[in-house]
Amino acid sequence: LPNLMLQALPVLEALVQQGFEAFFVGGCVRDTAMGLPIKDVDIATSARPEQVMSIFPRCIPTGLQHGTVTVLHDGESYEVTTFRTESEYEKHRRPLQVEFIDRLDGDLLRRDLTINAMAMNAAGELYDPFRGLDDLKKRMIRCVGDADARFQEDALRMLRTVRFASQFEFAIAHSTWRAVIKHRELLRHIAMERVQAELDRMIGGAHPGRALHLLAACKLLDYTGTVLPAAHKLAQGYTLYSGLDKLADPDTRYAALLMAEGITIPDAEETLKALRLPTQKMNAILSVLSIQTAMKQWNGKSDLRLVWTSLILQYGEEASRRWLSIAAWDRKHNLHDQTELLDKWLNGMPAMTLKQLKLNGKQLAEGLQRVPGTWTGQLLKQLLLEVALDKLPNEKELLLKQAQIWNAEDR
Ligand code: ATP
Ligand code: MG
Repeated sequence: LPNLMLQALPVLEALVQQGFEAFFVGGCVRDTAMGLPIKDVDIATSARPEQVMSIFPRCIPTGLQHGTVTVLHDGESYEVTTFRTESEYEKHRRPLQVEFIDRLDGDLLRRDLTINAMAMNAAGELYDPFRGLDDLKKRMIRCVGDADARFQEDALRMLRTVRFASQFEFAIAHSTWRAVIKHRELLRHIAMERVQAELDRMIGGAHPGRALHLLAACKLLDYTGTVLPAAHKLAQGYTLYSGLDKLADPDTRYAALLMAEGITIPDAEETLKALRLPTQKMNAILSVLSIQTAMKQWNGKSDLRLVWTSLILQYGEEASRRWLSIAAWDRKHNLHDQTELLDKWLNGMPAMTLKQLKLNGKQLAEGLQRVPGTWTGQLLKQLLLEVALDKLPNEKELLLKQAQIWNAEDR
């Protein structure tokens, strides 16, 4: 057993000691069987939530109606969930009713995929009624039981199917894939936030290209509740760029995908909004696209360093570095051959923000003997650009002197 599970053993054993059944379930069992590191440990038990709470002094009633109690033990937290079945799903998304049961089998039966429906006891023995281990060995994603029924119950499972297939580079069983195609329009019942969370994990995951390939093939994204104006572009970006995994973070990958077909900023914004991306994430991506809009217009004549430096000051270092990594990675980018130079300029910039400027607004106003106003900020920005371009040293006296010259010219 991996360390995290060994650490959780006392929790399992405490339940067993009180006469209950208790097993490790879900992702931790799957990942252990694959020899992968595990992220968190989930436990399933025959004990009812109030019984779990009476055994462990430190716990949080996370989702009592679903049977989940978070148990705190030795600095870690574990989700302990009572064996349950689900029945009568509401609008293809969540069970109207859960019923607590005494046996593990029924609990595994409600799970989505065979590889996610394995359990392990405290001795490390596998309990695997749906042959998840066989599917792991075959590198196969397959629904537990009848795929049609599974997707009709909860349409999110279709996206999870694609997510796991891409995450592990597994194939999808025929019957499961056919059921995805058959029931894909049920995805409209799923809240966009949940769709987005899955998409995020696919795009941010180890094999985003495979995820996008599968999404384009089954067209799942065409059936989300909200129309995604650029869903096609998102999903088809992979055909242009196979090495998306070379880009560091999900936001850079989103930007690259949206850039792939020259999407406009308003279209991109509409898509990201429809996807319910958090505002901060959306703005981060749009900044990269704004840089792209300006940079792709460079015709070889204008002063590239001036254009680039101004964009860095406007959109910040993070967005600039993201854009640069895309241009460096995309061999067809009009500025691909310039990226080393752009990188050098970026790394050599003595200041990127007004804060880094060795002269502030108050000092500037005093130095020019003027009342501070909107002009202060404008002049500071002008000074910052000179410094960023390495045309003016970032020294208080010299900055003030330059400001005085401009000020005199203006009058
Ligand atoms: P990850 O590494 O992505 O966390 P995981 O298998 O732990 O993988 P979770 O979403 O944390 O995935 O869910 C834990 C377990 O709960 C799954 O392994 C699966 O057995 C079950 N499960 C989760 N979501 C669903 C669902 N929509 N339908 C059926 N079973 C589900
Ligand atoms: Mg998990």
